[in-house]
Amino acid sequence: MTGAFLWQLAHPWRRGLMVLMLILLAQSLAALALPWLAGQLGAGFLESATGQGRVWPLVAAILGLLVLQAGLSAGAALLYAANAEAILAALRLRLFGHLLALPLPWHQGQERGSLMALATLEIERLGHFITGTLVYLAPLLLTAGGATVALFLLDPALALLVPVLVPGFYILTRLVGRRLRGLGQQIQSEHAAATTRVEEMLDLLPALKSFAVEPAEAVRHATGIDRLRRLSLREARLHALIDPAMGLAVSVAAVVLLVAVGRKLQSGDMGAAETISFLMYIALLVRPVSQLASVYGQVQTVRGTLARLQAVLETTPEPPAAGTLPPRAKGEVTFDAVTFAYPERGAALRGLSLSIAAGETVALTGPNGAGKSTAIALLMGFQRADAGRILLDAQDIATMPPDHLRRQIGLVPQTRHLRNASVRDNIAFGRDGATGAQVEAAARIAQAHAFILGLPQGYDTLIGDRGLRLSGGQQQRIALARALVGDPAVLILDEATSMFDTEGEAALVAECREALAGRTVIIVTHRPATLALADRVLRLEDGRIVEDI
Ligand code: ADP
Repeated sequence: MTGAFLWQLAHPWRRGLMVLMLILLAQSLAALALPWLAGQLGAGFLESATGQGRVWPLVAAILGLLVLQAGLSAGAALLYAANAEAILAALRLRLFGHLLALPLPWHQGQERGSLMALATLEIERLGHFITGTLVYLAPLLLTAGGATVALFLLDPALALLVPVLVPGFYILTRLVGRRLRGLGQQIQSEHAAATTRVEEMLDLLPALKSFAVEPAEAVRHATGIDRLRRLSLREARLHALIDPAMGLAVSVAAVVLLVAVGRKLQSGDMGAAETISFLMYIALLVRPVSQLASVYGQVQTVRGTLARLQAVLETTPEPPAAGTLPPRAKGEVTFDAVTFAYPERGAALRGLSLSIAAGETVALTGPNGAGKSTAIALLMGFQRADAGRILLDAQDIATMPPDHLRRQIGLVPQTRHLRNASVRDNIAFGRDGATGAQVEAAARIAQAHAFILGLPQGYDTLIGDRGLRLSGGQQQRIALARALVGDPAVLILDEATSMFDTEGEAALVAECREALAGRTVIIVTHRPATLALADRVLRLEDGRIVEDI
């Protein structure tokens, strides 16, 4: 199963990879020819004067083959680099693009660190595996197989030792390989957990400091890191034992053969040419055999990566962007008997019906868990209704491309999503290609223009990681400007103004009201002062509207 998936991943590069493999095969053939030529050369020197005539053409042939091998090596290295880098870049882009396209609910069910590890370290290993290991497999087998056949031709009795020694070697590798594989998977998941903890720590730093729980956090990390250290150490120990043991096994086998060859040479059963060739074929055999053993280990590691990559890439993404710009909607929003439940949870919305006229300012209120955020997530198309319909200007949003739908709606979310970029870029983020004038206009509506001009470099001021260099209220105003920069027909403030004090929120809404005319505004709030400013208040309880005033 993973084999088919691997083939599908490598398919676009099959030509380059095939050429690389052919070069490597040619290299193997050259390597296989050398021991034979060297044997002939040795024999030529030892034989009678008539035999000496063969020496110089043989030397020329050997030198020619060596030059050819060097040339093939250079070609293979260049092709390897070109293919490996191309495959790696494409895999990285494909995974990144797919992660971007996967729906939010899918992401909510994932462990971030594990995705990070997959997108960085693991995918890199996979790229090198495809080019560096898979492609080298056939040439390795050719060299190993060719050398074995040559040994048989030279001396069948002695060569019989080789198939006895090689499978023994493989059984050893397999046994150890299984243990290494289990360890590898444990290390991978500990590594992912460690990445997640670092990320969370950076994310939660203000909270950690305010509760003064830094020591507990450090201990939590230390426990995990210790597990990672012990697992990695165990892996290193296995390698420390196995690798020299295998090397030793190969060398001992070579010595055994060497002694056997020496005796045959001594008794005259084997000529000089055969002896030289035989020894060189054995030397030729050692490297591919140990490389084939390490391929086995690599396959075990890559299998886990492939399975996880396949699971991600085969999860259905959201429909692609339509590419065109939709005409601006009027902004009429209707929920028609909408029912929705999160997986393995009771219903969050139970036949929710509401209609909001274009240009209306509506407050959505109700106790925690009433379903307000869920209703917003459905309206944004992040989640799909189980039953019922949601209409924007009489069009069912289920039939709209997600990017069209989301261009009509400006969302100021509960959590802030500012980047480490200039104020201007943070506002323009809401719409690709927004001009300076559009950014400024949006900032004016959001009552942010004045304070932005007061910043050291105005609109070009960098606002630091996640906007930490701004006050909460300022961050919210920038988030509001970002939502407005695309001139959406519907604006949603999802408890967005929670950073303000009561008057602050009402003041912002009051100040913005005029500028917001001409678009539908949905404010999720508990604040009475804000409720008072709305044209209408919808009260949600237990997944349905209980009051509409
Ligand atoms: P509100 O925004 O009014 O506080 P929500 O829409 O967040 O309410 O929640 C409605 C119900 O759905 C609650 O019972 C809540 O526990 C549940 N819920 C919200 N988000 C999720 C989620 N991602 N997964 C599972 N259940 C959720």
